[in-house]
Amino acid sequence: MDRLIGKIEGDGAVTVVFTAAIHGNEPSGYHALKRLFDGYSGESIQGSVYGLIGNVGAFEQDVRFLEKDLNRIWTVDAAQEIEAGTKTLSTTFDEDREQVELYAQVKEIMSQAEGELIFVDLHSVSSETCPFITINDTLRNRRLSKKIGVPIVLGLEEYIRGSFLNRVNRLGYTAIGFEGGNHRAANTVQNQYAFIHLILQYTGVMNLSHQDLQHHHNQLSSSLKSSFYEVRFRQVIEPKEVFVMEPGYANFDFIEVNEHLARLNNSPVAAPFRGRILMPLYQPKGNDGFFIVRPILGVALWLSARLRKLPWSPLLRCLPGVRRVQNRPGRLQVNRRIARFLVIPLFHLLGFQCRHQTQDYLVFDPREINPV
Ligand SMILES: [Zn+2]
Repeated sequence: MDRLIGKIEGDGAVTVVFTAAIHGNEPSGYHALKRLFDGYSGESIQGSVYGLIGNVGAFEQDVRFLEKDLNRIWTVDAAQEIEAGTKTLSTTFDEDREQVELYAQVKEIMSQAEGELIFVDLHSVSSETCPFITINDTLRNRRLSKKIGVPIVLGLEEYIRGSFLNRVNRLGYTAIGFEGGNHRAANTVQNQYAFIHLILQYTGVMNLSHQDLQHHHNQLSSSLKSSFYEVRFRQVIEPKEVFVMEPGYANFDFIEVNEHLARLNNSPVAAPFRGRILMPLYQPKGNDGFFIVRPILGVALWLSARLRKLPWSPLLRCLPGVRRVQNRPGRLQVNRRIARFLVIPLFHLLGFQCRHQTQDYLVFDPREINPV
């Protein structure tokens, strides 16, 4: 199967790259993109649009992945290995080969793009859900996401390492994830199709009629509207652990503290605090049992958008327990024994992403990066 679903090369400078089925058992994005490219009959397009299959091998077999999750291996080290030629198509694992191929195709698009480049990754989930967006909290991502009018989840990248979108986001590009609905629900392809059109409209690539625009917005509308949520907890499933979610949870359902949510290795799993459940796992493959999210106050979003325009890295380095990391511009390491309270919320507010944490240290990167 060809990785390239289709492409339209128009006049404008904006390039939008859609990826679908980076998880092979999530076909809706592929079908929506196919419908877009097959139905294109030469109308005026102000930019270029590409559609790529993420994990071709897993997609052909309708499984999330064959050997390892393709959406968890986009680390800096992996990118350097591919660039250096030590990770090649002759590598052992299926997903490593998929990664090398996808990387080459994306690199080629990047080298040809003359103006702004926007990445959109299309997914679906195993539970019932309304459509929603996931982004790294950059101002560029926020601006585009807000226009779509669906719930927006921030902060997944602090719990999930090595996603494709995080990698391209860290190169400074706009990068938006979309969960179009349940893997098998009849209207998930429709949701993806509507979302794709809204992205093309709000990036200036398409110029939809008022009626079409309204139709696509209506397709995605739900009772949750376009509020922002922050991920506060991830239920990890280690390799070989057996996780069984209690039936009946839908995305964004309210949960109470200590509510019995699942069984892990036959022991009960209770909610550590109240909030809303996100992406409860109702499929065999995957290492995230569920997440808990909480709404973010509008004033916090407003304040963080303004505060992050200041050069905080040099200022914060003056605080006790905070130091810079050699050869990593803007990166800060915080000693948790010295700086004890509310460090993560404070750094979030100032526009930093928590890159990793140990018992002793927290490491933060600034979120806003100019495109390479
Ligand atoms: Zn997915």
